[in-house]
Amino acid sequence: MDDFSMLPMAADDDRLHEECGVFGVFGHDDAAALTALGLHALQHRGQEAAGIAAHDGRRFSIERHAGLVGDTFTRKAVIDRLPGRRAIGHNRYSTTGGAGMRNVQPMFAEFAGGGFAVAHNGNLTNAMILKRELQRRGSLFQSTSDTETIIHLIATSNHGQLLDRFVDAIRRIEGAYSLVALSEKKMLGCRDPLGVRPLVLGKLDEAWVLASETCALDIIGANYVRDIKPGEVVIITDEGIESLFPFEKSRSRFCIFEYVYFARPDSSVDGRGVYAVRKQIGAELARESGIPADVIVPVPDSGVPAAIGYAEASGIPFDLGIIRNHYVGRTFIEPTDAIRHMGVKLKHNANMGVLKGKRVVLVDDSIVRGTTSMKIVQMVREAGAAEVHMRIASPPTTDSCFYGVDTPEKSKLIASHMTIPEMASYIKADSLAFISIDGLYRAVGEAKRNGDAPQFCDACFTGDYPTRLADYEDRGKVQTLPRLAEAS
Ligand code: SF4
Repeated sequence: MDDFSMLPMAADDDRLHEECGVFGVFGHDDAAALTALGLHALQHRGQEAAGIAAHDGRRFSIERHAGLVGDTFTRKAVIDRLPGRRAIGHNRYSTTGGAGMRNVQPMFAEFAGGGFAVAHNGNLTNAMILKRELQRRGSLFQSTSDTETIIHLIATSNHGQLLDRFVDAIRRIEGAYSLVALSEKKMLGCRDPLGVRPLVLGKLDEAWVLASETCALDIIGANYVRDIKPGEVVIITDEGIESLFPFEKSRSRFCIFEYVYFARPDSSVDGRGVYAVRKQIGAELARESGIPADVIVPVPDSGVPAAIGYAEASGIPFDLGIIRNHYVGRTFIEPTDAIRHMGVKLKHNANMGVLKGKRVVLVDDSIVRGTTSMKIVQMVREAGAAEVHMRIASPPTTDSCFYGVDTPEKSKLIASHMTIPEMASYIKADSLAFISIDGLYRAVGEAKRNGDAPQFCDACFTGDYPTRLADYEDRGKVQTLPRLAEAS
């Protein structure tokens, strides 16, 4: 992830944002073009910039550009500048005020043992402490990215071989990281010991593929082989693939919010189809907090599968009462004040024929600050709905994420300082309910959350962070406001 000088990343709207997708191909004549396609499939994980590093057996070439993958990497001239049968790529979601192109990945360094490019999805939670230590020892940082810390740890390692230096480096970092890296002879893939962020392995003919999600394998016609295991390093060479497990074994704590919102619904994680899980979340919601109504309406697009599941479980018809404008271009991603007041209508419009006179259940994936929910409820009422009930496909978001998801600080999260009835009143809904944490666990196939050893990372709903947060504790940024929402 990027600019760790900003804690913890301020969202510029009322949604959480995933912060990066990674992709790599080893052993294919069209490695760079395939990587561009893979990044295109992962565009939802980061829209601010994209980069590809390729190696042709003699030298590295790197292209990094602001904007969407399709803005640049569809041009033949750009792909032609990335020759070779090996390539890795990265999509970046920028935090406000980040250090611009200096932070765009893949990051590249030339070591004594040869060049090394790395792309990172996640966020390190001790990068600032390591950076200060490295700077004291003379390292000069070019960016504000925590990924560069990994590069400097490799550069300053006492080990001889590049792979040993890489393993030495990842043993010193903490937090969430799925990495794809390219050296002159190898492609590496690696997940942190808890496997917080996803990474999958695929095969396209003789070529090996690494990707954040299976949807990126599908786009190039690659077969899914398996998920990279938590704490695993895969080493891919012309001779084949092998694995290292350089960490003590620990229980997986995959990000449960990937199932709720971040991952594409057509992806699978650890054998679970994301779309099926989302429908199941909707069914659990209907069982937990069903209410008499005439129509189930998703807040598009992310609320759609949960709304379908809710409708199926409740027997109440599903309909598209809100239409999303898919052409809200980049102009509006950081809107001017003049445009901002148009608010939610830039993206969503009420479909009056579906809503008029109806008791409506709106299904959305999460509530962050509450401002978007308030506007959507108002819009649905103005379209003539008789009642508006809000159902949320995640538990109340009470805590910030420090693992690579752009969340406002805790005090800006509405659920950190309001009870559920207070939130209902704030967004002006007739009723509001969130799925319970155990309901969410049931939807992903667990009987319930194991309180002593949770099966997933769910810290943004529970405050139970699975790692130390050394950087943030250091700067006093982990706030401890009471979690009133849970008490309601
Ligand atoms: S804190 Fe929430 S969003 Fe962040 S990794 Fe954990 S579950 Fe995912």
